[in-house]
Amino acid sequence: MDLALFDVEAPPPAAPTERESPGVRRTKRQADMLSRGRHPLTGQALHEQAAAHDDRDALGRRCGNCRWRQVLQYRTRSYPKCVFPGGSSAEQYETLGPPRVSHGEASDVRSWWPACRDHEPGDTRLPGSMRWVPDPAVMR
Ligand code: SF4
Repeated sequence: MDLALFDVEAPPPAAPTERESPGVRRTKRQADMLSRGRHPLTGQALHEQAAAHDDRDALGRRCGNCRWRQVLQYRTRSYPKCVFPGGSSAEQYETLGPPRVSHGEASDVRSWWPACRDHEPGDTRLPGSMRWVPDPAVMR
């Protein structure tokens, strides 16, 4: 006995969706956060002097000119991470490591990202006199 209310053909099977890799999904999520004025790592509002996210040549504060962004070496590879201590005590920092660092790509910090509010000028590879961030308002 057929219990269908209407005489319809079976719907076509759904087209197979192409599944994006975790890296592609993360990159899209980060781009979305930047477009909403949020920092991709911290999720918080950007620094008031942050460089524009859609112009990689724009002046201003970026993770790349922040003293907390460091390229950590492990075996033969390099990992750009934010070692900002936040509210960690010295003992917590020593034991657990920087709170924004994980062992995955999700905590990698792109140098071109506009700065978060914890930005402090300085590239540890540069001498002190070169750790200067041009203020876009003054440069115009
Ligand atoms: S701006 Fe500095 S403190 Fe903020 S996420 Fe980037 S590297 Fe970390």
